[in-house]
Amino acid sequence: MSDFTGIVIRSTGSWYAVKTNNEIINCRLRRKFKIKGIKTTNPIAVGDIVKFISDGKNGYITAIEDRKNCIIRKATNLSKQTHIVAANLDLAILVVTLAYPRTSTGFIDRFLSSAEAYDVETALVWNKIDIYDARLFELTTKYAKIYSNVGYQCFMVSAKTSENIEQIKTLLKDKKTLMFGHSGVGKSELINAIHPELKLKTKEISLYHKKGKHATTFAEMFDLPFGGSIIDTPGIKEFGLVDFNVEELSHWFPEMKKVLSNCKFYNCTHIHEPQCAVRKAVENGEISEERYYNYLSILNNVEEQPAGWE
Ligand code: GDP
Ligand code: ZN
Repeated sequence: MSDFTGIVIRSTGSWYAVKTNNEIINCRLRRKFKIKGIKTTNPIAVGDIVKFISDGKNGYITAIEDRKNCIIRKATNLSKQTHIVAANLDLAILVVTLAYPRTSTGFIDRFLSSAEAYDVETALVWNKIDIYDARLFELTTKYAKIYSNVGYQCFMVSAKTSENIEQIKTLLKDKKTLMFGHSGVGKSELINAIHPELKLKTKEISLYHKKGKHATTFAEMFDLPFGGSIIDTPGIKEFGLVDFNVEELSHWFPEMKKVLSNCKFYNCTHIHEPQCAVRKAVENGEISEERYYNYLSILNNVEEQPAGWE
C-alpha cells in the first residue's frame, strides 16, 4: 500500500474515480472516515483533491484537501439534503435557453447568487440560438445586457450549428469549468461541439418527462484537448439555495453590494426600510427590476420556510 494524491473525476455514490498521474483508480471512503462540519449527501465531490492509499488496483480515500470553492445546492428550496455539485472550480458556465426548456431568470439568479456566496466565477451561455425568432433574440440581448452590466460574461451560441463555439473554447482554455443548467438546455450537445471525440449522448427532450424525478445521474470531469477540463452535470431539475441569513443575500448580487453601504440601516433588507440605496438604484434604473424582483422572491422563499427548518 502506498500514499497518493489525486483529483476526483467521477463519483457514483460509494465509489470515486480518482485521477493521478494519468491513471484512474477507483476508491472508496474508509469506513470510519468522516468530514467535520459538512452536512451533505456527498462528503466528496468531483473536483476534490484527495489523499488515498492504493495497492495499484483499488484504493481508499484517507483525506480531503480544503476546497478553494464549490457549487452546492438543494434539490428544492424546501429540501433538507444539500449536495455538492463540484469543487475547486476556475469557472462555472450556466447554460440557459429561451427555447425549450426555457430558463427563468429566477433560476439564473438563484444560481448566480449561490455561486457568489461560494466564490465561483460564472459566465452565462444562451444556447439554441439557431431556433430563436426575432423576438427571442431581442429578449436574449436584453438579458445579456442586464447580466453583463452586473459583471457576468454573456455568450449566445448554438451547440447544434456550432455558431460562436470558438468563443466558448477560448473561455474554457486551461480552466477547470463546471457546465451547469436545466436538463435539456443542451449541455451534452455543447460539450460535444467543444470536444467532439467525447461523443456524449444527447437526449431527446420527450424522454425527460418519462424519466420524471428519477433521472439522477452523476457529475463527471473530462480533459479538454486544448487545455483545461470540463465537468458535466446531467439531470438537474432545480437549484435550491443552501441556508443563508436574510441580511446576507444582497451581498451576493454584485450590483446591490456596490451600493448597500449607503443604506441607512446596516442590516437593511432593501424591502421596506427608509433611505434604502438599493431601492433608490432600482428606481433610477441602475439596478434591473427583474434582478430586484428575483432577489425579493428568494427572500420570500426563505421567510416561508416551515418552523423547524434548519
Ligand atoms: P442536456 O440535458 O443539457 O445535456 O441537453 P442535451 O445536450 O441532451 O440536449 C437536449 C436536446 O436539445 C437534444 O434534443 C439536443 O439535440 C437539443 N439541442 C441541444 N443544443 C441545441 C441547439 O443549439 N439547437 C437546437 N435546435 N437544439 C439543441
Ligand atoms: Zn437597503
